Amino acid sequence: MKVKMLKKSKERIEFEIEGLTSGLAGELRRIMLSEIPTMAIEWVDFHKNDSVLWDDIIASRLGLIPMAFDPKLYNMKDGCKCNGKGCSRCQVMLALKKKGPCMVYSEDLKSSDKKVKPVYDKIPSVELIEDQELEFEATVQLGLGKEHAKWQGAIVGYEMSGPKNDKFTFVVESACGLSAEEVVKKSFDVLKGKLKDFTTDVGRLK
Ligand SMILES: [Zn+2]
Repeated sequence: MKVKMLKKSKERIEFEIEGLTSGLAGELRRIMLSEIPTMAIEWVDFHKNDSVLWDDIIASRLGLIPMAFDPKLYNMKDGCKCNGKGCSRCQVMLALKKKGPCMVYSEDLKSSDKKVKPVYDKIPSVELIEDQELEFEATVQLGLGKEHAKWQGAIVGYEMSGPKNDKFTFVVESACGLSAEEVVKKSFDVLKGKLKDFTTDVGRLK
């Protein structure tokens, strides 16, 4: 298998793989969409909400904010030593307190871990008019795109070419706090793990 980099920025990457089957290319795409752990807001505890929007509408908007994080530092909640209760190894707290008139932006979220924060500062969630108050605490945790779209790793497309139809040009745009390159690397790791499990299973059949 040969991999060639065509174009690369933090958010977007274009590369070519030769020697792949269309089944594996599809699997790679699916992994990037739905099986890379990324961080998103999972739970919001509202103390005050005088805005015109319901709590759950604000919570689902907050869930879609891409969060930057260090993939080595956090565990998936289910696989964490705390047995899913939530601890500093599997979740991060964000706090927000604002009083109108103002627009509430992603940059207003104050994080308990400086490295875990919105990728973009100016994502609006709700507008507050004179004297309206919004105050909440939110929990950020790792999750997978197959559980909920807010954890989707990337937007991915590919094209097949070559005389043997074994050449694939991938375009990957990150939809999470990881760079496009990190998404691709992670997806190769996941795919490798799957192929290894598969070979072990086949070995057991003999
Ligand atoms: Zn934990």
